Amino acid sequence: MTLLADIFDHNKSFVEDKKYEELQTNKYPSKKIVILTCMDTRLVELLPKAMNFKNGDVKLIKNAGATISHPFGSVMRSLLVAIFELKAEEVCVVGHYDCGMINFSSSSMLKKALDRGIKEETITTLLNADIDLNKWLEGFNCVEDSVKNSVQMIKKHPLFPNNIPVHGMVIDPETGKLSEVINGY
Ligand SMILES: [Zn+2]
Repeated sequence: MTLLADIFDHNKSFVEDKKYEELQTNKYPSKKIVILTCMDTRLVELLPKAMNFKNGDVKLIKNAGATISHPFGSVMRSLLVAIFELKAEEVCVVGHYDCGMINFSSSSMLKKALDRGIKEETITTLLNADIDLNKWLEGFNCVEDSVKNSVQMIKKHPLFPNNIPVHGMVIDPETGKLSEVINGY
């Protein structure tokens, strides 16, 4: 059975057995907060349990490294939608130790792309088109600094209201212990 077939197979009984009923809620976060965190597999269940939120409590944005790569990209847009349209009143950026984006190198990823059949000239064309692949793909050295950068980027955004607190934290992916990096109040 493929993974896709497995998902649909499970989904059929999930819906038939009305397993969704215990999860039903609405689109507004009852804890009025939007969280930006990493897509790390260890955080899928650990983060909500360690921070005490469940379905319906928060808006959750995830990507590689909990970073904002561009002030007018999809992460910043999602944060603004959460605040202006979905009643979030606080923001929290949660990085984590042992993140795959720590010391992540764009050159090693581009090498893997070449190994997977992407043509060298494609990469050259992108570089010639002034696309800064290295900056776009590069990770970070220190998770606390990365969280601080993300918090600053959010607070300095021209469309971000200045009465919304922006917090920064780091979570231990083994124990779930949270450390405060920035208290936004
Ligand atoms: Zn990570």
